[in-house]
Amino acid sequence: MTKKFDVIIVGGGIMAGSLAYNLMKDGYTGSIGIFEKDRAYEYSSTPRSEGGIRQTFSTEVNIKMSQYSYRVYKNFEEEMAIDGEPCHIDFRQDGYLYLLNDRTLPIFKDIMKIQESLGVQANLMDQRETKDFFPELNVEDLTGAVFDPDAGNADPYSVLQGYIKKARQMGVTFIYEEVDTIVTEQQKVKGVITKNGEMYHAPIVVNAAGPWSGELSKKIDIDIPVQPLRRQLFSIDTTMKFQNTIPFTFDPTGLHFRGERSKIVVGWANDVPFGYDFRLEKSFFEEEIWPVLAHRSLNFEQLKVDGGWAGLYDYNPVDHNAIIGGHPSMAGYYVISGFSGHGFQHAPAAGKGLSELIRLGKFETIDMSALSVERFATKNLVLETAVF
Ligand SMILES: Cc1cc2nc3c(=O)[nH]c(=O)nc-3n(C[C@H](O)[C@H](O)[C@H](O)COP(=O)(O)OP(=O)(O)OC[C@H]3O[C@@H](n4cnc5c(N)ncnc54)[C@H](O)[C@@H]3O)c2cc1C
Repeated sequence: MTKKFDVIIVGGGIMAGSLAYNLMKDGYTGSIGIFEKDRAYEYSSTPRSEGGIRQTFSTEVNIKMSQYSYRVYKNFEEEMAIDGEPCHIDFRQDGYLYLLNDRTLPIFKDIMKIQESLGVQANLMDQRETKDFFPELNVEDLTGAVFDPDAGNADPYSVLQGYIKKARQMGVTFIYEEVDTIVTEQQKVKGVITKNGEMYHAPIVVNAAGPWSGELSKKIDIDIPVQPLRRQLFSIDTTMKFQNTIPFTFDPTGLHFRGERSKIVVGWANDVPFGYDFRLEKSFFEEEIWPVLAHRSLNFEQLKVDGGWAGLYDYNPVDHNAIIGGHPSMAGYYVISGFSGHGFQHAPAAGKGLSELIRLGKFETIDMSALSVERFATKNLVLETAVF
């Protein structure tokens, strides 16, 4: 018996879930098969994400994707309910606080102009107001801060499960097998072959393999700039407690920290080589992160690290933005990857956009053509200044 689908999605993370859900919701009548190599999602990016959701970006496409996704997340529990059972995702809006110095103030002033023109409000505070807002901070070397009150974070694993369960209920098939390669013939996609040698036919194959998507694409000699990049997050407990809930706070150095119930989660995007590396290095915390934290607040002087984890960004080293669209010289081959640390928050919009492109051949809700695969060849890169 020939095994076939109308659309095959390789990778079963949040991008696959959002795409499949949106296709079904938008009335697609073809069959959809999602191939996922790791049923437990142990190393997938989505469950290892921090789940941050913000609207502070400097490009129109990213702001519009944020606005769309924010609306989806606000209503996610109801939208993904099954048989009246809501899908809890623990969406907490504790806000994002960007601490500014002389170098970053002008960058944020420009970002705020663009945001405001698109209807996203954030509050610019001077040094005194920043201190009043967050009394435990050392603001001596700061000019102020920007606070985005609507931003926050949700539980990525619950969101992933929400999409998966809903997509399955709507008729999407999940196959827990690793795709070995995509099959092509005369510049057209024909299907995939799994690691156990089975061929599945499909005229459309979507590469949603997250940090593995660059490697998968290479198998059909198509280069897409996506690399696995390790990011480490540490969970800490301070002896001296903070008075208020800690928003998702970005230091001008790039380090960030946020309250997570009684703990604090801290991360910093340090320079590491690309690779499938999941090590958590305590020495990185002790030697590099801790001194910056202790400078920012006396409360961080005494603390203990009581956990943490590392995960992989689906990192696009060329312009650090998503790649969404069909490949110009391989009919039926689509990519949804390269989100470089903002995939969780953009997944609802990304899935909606690619659903439109596959069904209608064009974007309708948000024009995402700036994020096309072609932009690397034509050098029309997306220059986003708000990437952390
Ligand atoms: C530490 C960390 C913090 C982050 N914080 C944030 C944040 O605060 N906000 C935000 O917006 N984003 C954040 N991100 C980014 C976000 O998590 C990712 O952009 C997003 O989860 C990518 O989703 P995905 O579905 O493309 O990838 P994944 O979730 O990795 O899914 C891809 C799936 O493909 C499967 N797969 C790969 N190859 C094959 C194959 N050949 N056959 C079958 N299956 C295959 C993998 O097993 C995997 O499950 C963070 C990421 C990390 C690592």
